[in-house]
Amino acid sequence: MNAPAAPAGARASDRRSRANAFAARVRRDFPALQQEVGGKPLVYLDNAASTQKPDAVIDAIAHYYRHDHANVHRGMHELARRATEAYEGARRKVARFLGAADPAEVVWTRGTTEAINLVASAWSHTFLGEGDEIVLSTQEHHSNLVPWQLAAARAGARLRYLELDDEGRLLLDRLPELLSPRTRMVALSHVSNALGTVNPVAEIAKQVHAAGALLLVDGAQGAPHLPIDVATLGCDFYAASGHKMCGPTGIGALWGRRELLEQMEPYQGGGEMISVVEREYSTWAEVPHKFEAGTPNVAGAVGMGAAADYLTGIGHAALAEHERTVLEYALDRLAAIDGIRLFGPPAAERCGVVSFLLDHAHAHDVATILDADGVAVRAGHHCAQLVMKHFGVPATSRASFYLYNDTEDVDRLIEGLDRVKAIFG
Ligand code: PMP
Repeated sequence: MNAPAAPAGARASDRRSRANAFAARVRRDFPALQQEVGGKPLVYLDNAASTQKPDAVIDAIAHYYRHDHANVHRGMHELARRATEAYEGARRKVARFLGAADPAEVVWTRGTTEAINLVASAWSHTFLGEGDEIVLSTQEHHSNLVPWQLAAARAGARLRYLELDDEGRLLLDRLPELLSPRTRMVALSHVSNALGTVNPVAEIAKQVHAAGALLLVDGAQGAPHLPIDVATLGCDFYAASGHKMCGPTGIGALWGRRELLEQMEPYQGGGEMISVVEREYSTWAEVPHKFEAGTPNVAGAVGMGAAADYLTGIGHAALAEHERTVLEYALDRLAAIDGIRLFGPPAAERCGVVSFLLDHAHAHDVATILDADGVAVRAGHHCAQLVMKHFGVPATSRASFYLYNDTEDVDRLIEGLDRVKAIFG
């Protein structure tokens, strides 16, 4: 016979204890979290901007530079072979992390921004023409807007926008009317960095493909938090940044369907991306190297590969369960504050991001006062000015959680907000 179910309150407190034990274990892996700021243990709640790095990543980069560094691909010596293996081995790890069967479909970039620029530039060059349409949403980070504005201006194409509802969800029932025979590309985020909204990519992909268009997913906030399987998502391009998923800055990945990558012209020219160079023309290397002109960020790739391994070792199910517990606790506690405005959908529809405003206090003042208490949050438009316009605000304060945060971090946030309220009345 089953044991009688525990009361809901007890179950929630069990989940919180488990989450705090999990975070305490994980935090030991992150040296930057072992410090005090403002005389108190650092509470780092700026993960949507960039995450901290575990020893596994720092050590992988240091090991690479201490033992294996040389330029990749062109060398005939031992270190060049090791560097090449480290670089290509990291590509295989990131491909696995994204669910890509073929590592050649993973192009190293500087980050999500460069990955989207690569597609907006190289794909549009061949496939976007006058009068064609690109569908975006007002939820997008500027790096999934501006590259398309540039591409549309070059091609004489038109941008169309999917709007948001009052809780920051995409108004998907309007998608069919936005998709026309002229739609060539739909570019949407997997998870909003300003609101945390998780978008139903697989469902969107079906509609986009039925209309004969392609789907690019900005995965800057998806890859760190959700299990990614590009085949199940059904998208055509997926962009991610190393630094948002425990990896280093200056490295990211573009996954693209091989036949699309093969049909695209190179994005930049230089060494490593060619097959033959003549006086008047050149021919290109195979994908992905066709898109990797110049000496690449080998150490960054090694670090991103180590980060992918680290997160896989933690396990996506454990990560998701942990983040859900901390997020629900945060939303409950924040919602109980008098004079707070919370943005975004309910916990079940979002990742660990909470944007908010307090009556009478500017978003930046909130962040400054929290910083004095050793609590790191971000304030501003979060590179999502169209989201701010949608809600009629210039800025929000944003707390964003990751695997090393716990409910005590949330308590410290709430204490800091109490101080803000005491100051601003
Ligand atoms: N898209 C989203 C949703 C983001 O959150 C970010 C980073 N804030 C980016 C794109 C750009 O990523 P990066 O700066 O690493 O290129």
